[in-house]
Amino acid sequence: MLTKLWKVDKNVDNLITYPQIRQAATLLMENHVVALPTETVYGLGGNAESDDAVAKIFAAKGRPSDNPLIIHIANQAQLANIVREIPEMANQLMEAFWPGPLTLIFNKQDGKLSEKATAGLSTVAVRMPDHPVALALIEASGLPIAAPSANLSGRPSPTTAGHVHDDLDGRIAGIVDGGPTGVGVESTVVDCTGDVPVILRPGGITKEQLEAVVGEVSTDPALADPEQAPKSPGMKYRHYSPNAPLYLVDGEVEDIQQLVDEKRAEGLKVGVMTTEENRERYQADVIYPCGRRTQLESVAEALYDTLRAFNESNVDIIYGEIFPETGVGVAVMNRLTKASGYPIIRK
Ligand code: AMP
Ligand code: MG
Repeated sequence: MLTKLWKVDKNVDNLITYPQIRQAATLLMENHVVALPTETVYGLGGNAESDDAVAKIFAAKGRPSDNPLIIHIANQAQLANIVREIPEMANQLMEAFWPGPLTLIFNKQDGKLSEKATAGLSTVAVRMPDHPVALALIEASGLPIAAPSANLSGRPSPTTAGHVHDDLDGRIAGIVDGGPTGVGVESTVVDCTGDVPVILRPGGITKEQLEAVVGEVSTDPALADPEQAPKSPGMKYRHYSPNAPLYLVDGEVEDIQQLVDEKRAEGLKVGVMTTEENRERYQADVIYPCGRRTQLESVAEALYDTLRAFNESNVDIIYGEIFPETGVGVAVMNRLTKASGYPIIRK
């Protein structure tokens, strides 16, 4: 399949009238799949009402079919059409954070969406992205758009159109290039079907931000306990992984350097994933900084690009620094521990 590539300037007025957006929207209406920028990561969009389109999303990514998709909308009327009710806590959260990196779980109205999009669940995950290109495309198509991250399943999520191209060229109908995304980690997923909102996946909106709006917020205990089945089906899969094994180290620069030295003595090509503050302090074959330690938002923004960069450098093993689990650091550590898949080395 030939994958079309459109470039758009996200800052222009009346994006919806641009031919790139019209063409991409037409492909969506014909049940083809198209990658689009959002403020978190690039999404692989398809008509959420169509089994055919949703099947194409799962096939292009190689995604397990029991992992439901987030439905992206551009206005409240689209929400009312697919959910059974809107709880008061959801209204407060939408008022505060939509459009934005927050996905809410609602009870769904039957018969409105492809059962494949929701993996047969009685609930549906919905989000209004804070990106002019995503909103213009959804509006131009007039459809609810199912959109998981636009990467091959298991690989780091894409934060540029180039990442999408690397993974999915020839497998999807098109890519709308609206420049690099901003937040860098996926949306926070919050279940609003119970008495208290429950975080099922940490993300761009922090627990502290949610609590400032709705008071008590709990977190799915399975997120901290690998023995428990998570409530969000996608959280059980290994994700975001670079090609080489990634080991996270809770320790000082000297501790990590010692591990690096041991592996280099064995003849391995060793990478270090560090931060701007510490990059000059290591000696290794490949050293990539991932944002600034003092500004966790910058770590989130750079995370997937840094993980992908190690694939180009063909290292045999990567050691990575860990981050404090406060604010967006919770989401960063959630993604890093999944990318690693190994227990953190404690020094
Ligand atoms: P992705 O599309 O890769 O950003 O992943 C979407 C996340 O939302 C996955 O972790 C899904 O398991 C989760 N999700 C989607 N729909 C639901 C739902 N109805 N209930 C719980 N989690 C969901
Ligand atoms: Mg994903």
